[in-house]
Parts: sequence; structure tokens; C-alpha cells
Amino acid sequence: MIGARLPCRCLPVVIALLLVRVGAKAQPFLPGNTYFSPNGHIEYRCGDLPLIISVPHGGALQPADIPDRTCNSPVYDVDANTVELGQAIDSAFLARGGCRPHLIINHLARRKLDANRNLIDGACGDPQAELAWNAFHDFIDSASATVTALTGKGFYLDLHGHGHAIQRVELGYLLYEDELALPPATLNSSTYINYSSIRNLAGNNLQGLTHAELLQGPQALGTLLSNTGYPAVPSQQDPFPMAGQPYFSGGYNVAQHSSYAGGSIDGVQVECYYTGIRGTGVDRARFADSLAMVMDAYFALHYFGSGNTCTSGLPERPSTTSIVCFPNPCTDHITVAWPAGTSATVRVNDLLGRV
Ligand SMILES: [Zn+2]
Repeated sequence: MIGARLPCRCLPVVIALLLVRVGAKAQPFLPGNTYFSPNGHIEYRCGDLPLIISVPHGGALQPADIPDRTCNSPVYDVDANTVELGQAIDSAFLARGGCRPHLIINHLARRKLDANRNLIDGACGDPQAELAWNAFHDFIDSASATVTALTGKGFYLDLHGHGHAIQRVELGYLLYEDELALPPATLNSSTYINYSSIRNLAGNNLQGLTHAELLQGPQALGTLLSNTGYPAVPSQQDPFPMAGQPYFSGGYNVAQHSSYAGGSIDGVQVECYYTGIRGTGVDRARFADSLAMVMDAYFALHYFGSGNTCTSGLPERPSTTSIVCFPNPCTDHITVAWPAGTSATVRVNDLLGRV
């Protein structure tokens, strides 16, 4: 979880973000290989899908020569098991077709480095922590540059865990809860699209969906996730947090690395509840498989259609069909999508084979 919401959206913040992004540089990283920062605190698994996942708060390393952070109201809470969850998501994509997302992991404990804050607040002036902070964000920038060069657009997930009482995945698009409750016409205004971490997608998606539809409609990310059995907000089922309900709207990383800051990589902060998602290896594997299916569908619906997005040439999903169907098997809900302009017959069997 994050300790504070975005302080403001004023011009100086935007300028600072752009200055950092200019320094990003593409590196000759190879898909399937794993790289570490010079001190070994940051891990980068290079991928070949237009998906970037970062894990800033799950690390466990506490080197004695890096002092605990004391500057600017530090938060020490670790997002338990999110490193393992990120690794499970990586494995789930690999199992689906041999392709993988770009995965960046901070292995330092949050009391040593907060990789979801700016350099000053996150590293508190320690040289090793600063080295790790720079490596973490340089790896993300490099992955973004690679994705942009190869597929022109993509998506970024900043993976966290929350301890709120309401068991739902909180998707942070940099919009506050009262803003998510605004009428669609207001959410679709340029003012709120410019605040959004899916700013690029709102202006350029395959079906011409509106910003509000991408946040809360039948094909929103939260809706697709809810359909697999993992309640999420915002979504069609749960469009916005009610007043007084705790909710993380997105932090430094999403503001830094999503299309809010420019470019064509959209993003969202994903705050996962514990029991059923992060608690056990079985839970993590099931959620990871569902998330992989959801992202596959999300890319097909809004970004790439039935085209192959795996830049190493492997099909990231079965190439014999452009139909997306998940979860399979299912319990209460199933989502089936196929290309516009074509027809499909859907037959549902129960576990006894009955139609
Ligand atoms: Zn966190």
C-alpha cells in the first residue's frame, strides 16, 4: 500500500516528471533474461509482452549498512507476498504461451527504500538506496522504451497489497474516489482524462470507448477482474468507493510511468487484498492465472485486437482463435469476447458435460 495520496497535480509536478523521463534510455536487455542492479537489490526480468509490472513494496532485504529511512514521514509496512505474487503472474503468462511481461522487483525492505516515492523521500539520501531507486526506475523506463518501440503502446501495473477491511482489488487510475463518482460526461471531459493514468487509451482505443466506460463499463479492467471472481473498484459492479471508504487512488509510480506523464503506456496501481490473492501459493497461482487471462482480454479488446503482441514471435495465446474466454472453468460468471463484425456460437457445459 502507499502511505499518501498524490500531493497535487500542479504544473511543477508535471515538469519534474517530464525531466526524469527524458533521461530514460533503452538498454540491450534480452527477453527471458534476468538482470540485477549493481548491488543486487533490484531485479529485472526482461519480457516480450507489452506489459510492465513493478513490485515496489514487497522486498525483505535489510542490509545493515543502509540506515532505516527517517525522512518525510516514512512508512515501513511491507506489502506481504507481493514479490511472490509478481513471480506467480510472470509464471502464469509463461504457462499461457511462452511469453512474459517485463517484471521489476525491489528486493529492499520498505524501511530501507520506498520505490513508490520520489528519490528524496524514497531513499532519504543514502547512496546505496539512491542507487537502487535509480535502478528500479531505469529498468521500468527501459522496459517502457522497448515496449513503445516494438508495439507502440502497452500497459503498466504497479503491484501492491492493501490491508483495508473491504475485500476488493483497488485500481488506482490517479482519480480520487469523489472524482470516480462524477457523472460520465464529466469524467469524459479533457480535465479528468488529463488526470488519468489511462489518458492515452481514453483517446485511442479499438472500440472508441469513453474514459468512463474504460473505468466503469462492461469491458473495464475492474469489470473483467470482477467477472473472474476478484471484486474490484472501479468496475461496473462497484463503480466508485463510497464516501469514507478507504481507497488508494495511485501513487508516484503510476504518475511517473503511465500515460498521465505522456507517452502511450497506460497504467494502473493494483492494490490486492490478502486472503484469496496473496496469502498462499495456491491463491497466488489462481489469481495470477486470472489476471493473465484478464490482461490478455484487455489487450485484445482495447489495444491490439486479435493480433499477436508477443514480440519474440511466440503466440501469447492460442493462434487458432481470436476468441477470448475466461475464466474457464467458471462458477458464477464467464466472459467471452470475439472480434466485432464476426459471429460466434457459445456453448456452455457443466462439469458433467451437460450443455
Ligand atoms: Zn504498497
